Amino acid sequence: MKKINKIAFIGMGLINSSLARDLNDLGFYNSSSAYSRTKKTRNILRKLDIVDKVEESYEKTVKGADIVIIGVPVAAFSNVIKKISPFLMKSTIITDVGSVKKSLIKSAEKYLPKNIDFIPGHPIAGTENSGPEAGFKGLFKNGYCILTPKSNIKKESLDIIIKMWNLAGMKVDIMDPEYHDMVLAITSHIPHIIAYSIVGTISSLEKSIKKEVIKYAASGFKDFTRIAASDPIMWRDILLSNKGSILEMLSIFKKDLATLEKAIRNEDSKFLYNLFSKTRLIRKKINK
Ligand code: NAP
Repeated sequence: MKKINKIAFIGMGLINSSLARDLNDLGFYNSSSAYSRTKKTRNILRKLDIVDKVEESYEKTVKGADIVIIGVPVAAFSNVIKKISPFLMKSTIITDVGSVKKSLIKSAEKYLPKNIDFIPGHPIAGTENSGPEAGFKGLFKNGYCILTPKSNIKKESLDIIIKMWNLAGMKVDIMDPEYHDMVLAITSHIPHIIAYSIVGTISSLEKSIKKEVIKYAASGFKDFTRIAASDPIMWRDILLSNKGSILEMLSIFKKDLATLEKAIRNEDSKFLYNLFSKTRLIRKKINK
């Protein structure tokens, strides 16, 4: 496998800054650079000292880079690809960490030079916090990273990106992008919609009730709604970029919810018991 001389990070929020922390002292690359659009984040990055160079120009960041990892909100991806494309080497491998895949692949096909290997990626790990100070070493440990590359990329490029995620502690699965977007719609995107929506319902309740809800919120409610504190820009972008799969899964979910509502209305205790027994078994398997 070829030696990585330079790695470049575009966007240094929770995900890319955690990856930089993980890879920093493993000898995977000789040098690293990071682009951040705001002065505030660049100053934080210089203090954190997790990359060799912090840049405010796309050109300086990606010039001579063997790998470029894009870690920005998904709606910003297209513009980033467009801006960095003129400065890439033929051998540069482009990858990303975005939570949706189909729409990003479309942008890459539009703007990336044809001979460049693009290996879309999605590490299934994260928290509800944002920015480089929220990142930490070990975020990816024991998780899965899904890669959705086309079949015509060089095998060596794929091996390098797999090795990178393995070094960060992740197992790697290769998947079709459409299937990825469908699976993530139900496992991640719809749970976020439900959390945002239930917290939104509380905020629209009478002032006094809202106060009591916040005061007496039991741990179940707190656990369940933790993700409603996630970054609003990031989640706006994810939901709009995966509209098709989300609407498809949402219609199945709404049908199931209506069945549950009917069972409660009809006091169908057998149905409720059977459903909750089944879901309990499924949920226990997820913990394993
Ligand atoms: P984050 O902490 O909010 O950081 C986003 C980064 O993108 C910041 O460095 C920000 O720079 C930069 N940025 C924002 N808008 C930009 C624009 N228009 N042009 C250029 N740079 C821009 O986000 P994150 O949680 O790391 O998420 C990054 C990506 O990972 C997203 O695509 C998300 O879907 C995906 N992801 C997130 C999670 C999660 O749990 N958070 C998990 C898996 C995958 P400034 O600070 O300079 O503004």
